[in-house]
Amino acid sequence: MNGRGLALGAWVGAWLGACLGATAAAQAIPAAAPSGPARFVLLQAGSLLAVPGQPAAREMTVVVKNDRIDRIAKGYLDDVPHSAADTVRVVDLRTRFVLPGLMDAHVHLHMQAGDTTRGQSPRRGRSAPLLSDRAVNAVVYGRRTLAAGFTTVRDLGSDEESIFATRDLFASGRVVGPRILASGSPISATGGHGDDTTVDGDLAGKRLMNGVCDGPAACMAAVRMQHKLGANVIKATATGGFSGEQSFESQFTLEELTAIVTAAHQLDLRVAVHAYTPKAIAEVVKSGANSVEHGFFVDDATLKEMKKKGVFLVPTLSAAFPPPFLGVKDPPSLKMRDEAKAFERAYAMGVKIAFGTDAGTFNHGENAKEFDLMVGYGMKPMDAIAAATVGTADLFGLSEQIGTLESGKVADVIAVTGNPLDTIAALHTIDFVMKSGVVAKENGIMHDGITYLPFGSDGPRRGR
Ligand SMILES: [Zn+2]
Repeated sequence: MNGRGLALGAWVGAWLGACLGATAAAQAIPAAAPSGPARFVLLQAGSLLAVPGQPAAREMTVVVKNDRIDRIAKGYLDDVPHSAADTVRVVDLRTRFVLPGLMDAHVHLHMQAGDTTRGQSPRRGRSAPLLSDRAVNAVVYGRRTLAAGFTTVRDLGSDEESIFATRDLFASGRVVGPRILASGSPISATGGHGDDTTVDGDLAGKRLMNGVCDGPAACMAAVRMQHKLGANVIKATATGGFSGEQSFESQFTLEELTAIVTAAHQLDLRVAVHAYTPKAIAEVVKSGANSVEHGFFVDDATLKEMKKKGVFLVPTLSAAFPPPFLGVKDPPSLKMRDEAKAFERAYAMGVKIAFGTDAGTFNHGENAKEFDLMVGYGMKPMDAIAAATVGTADLFGLSEQIGTLESGKVADVIAVTGNPLDTIAALHTIDFVMKSGVVAKENGIMHDGITYLPFGSDGPRRGR
């Protein structure tokens, strides 16, 4: 299809999506590929965990057609009926354990603790990356995250210019990376956890762009601004955190939180709220938010409410550990977490849990360490894997598209050596990654993932 056809197709798709009321998150996944020669990839799986939560099966073939799963077949297929122009490729994963692509509901791709940086964050008096560095970081860290088996991530707080550009780059296919649902700047009260603005120059302008707001009306405007800039989800910060200087007390009123959620839901955006302390978390749940991020000190009464309302806990157990390069021994944050045991209580009570790490406070690509913590604190390996596939898909509103390997779903598939249901650490070493039907990693080696056009070709017009 020529450039004009692609552009027209995208325009019609966007228009149809708008008319049919597709959710903001669902628009992150393009409609199925256009007609033309089909590309079949047959993944011969020694063990296949097609639907986490249900038992794995032996000796199966995942038939991938273009970017979708065509069907799951018993036994090892090495061909399928196809027309002359189609291509068929077999990938031998007979000694591997195959499962859906993993998802991390809480990352910050634009930076990583310990990065050397060229800029300064005056408010916090420490170095911070320049905008240009953040964009480059997000591409590199995104690729590392994909190599670690995470085919979809939710970025809850990266500078909006860099993260939306990176998300769109990966979505265009020019460079292969994880699917990103991005919040842009978090919505934060003045002086709150997410307020990174300086007090010189155009303060009002910076505040609006950076999601800083006080009072219900301003907070609705802040949500609408992130939506206007391109957010797929809204992140708000209701308390301080271990990485900030503020206290853990509430930073928004219930009225402000409710205004944020009302504005976001009206725009079909889900709301993730960073909160640590019981009173703040209770108000976050009351406000109608979709997930509590961190939630370390939540009380049982609020967990009961969360279960009743279907509000997710995104535990980010990794966030209890200070950045490794600081070399902190016996961190107080870990001691506090281990005493409060919010994750263990939530799991025992049957609260919905979605896998999320806060990667960026530690190395991108080491997201799977969170699995060790979840299982270490008593979660069954199957439930931990479900939290990172079925659970995250549910939280993102994308259960129809991703999270399991079933006919018609997007082909996000990974494979490991060993059985993660026996040894969760098998997820540390990812052998094979396919995202949207494109093989990104094979035999433990990443392809460069860049689309090259033939010399002199008038390639398809890409971008926004
Ligand atoms: Zn975070």
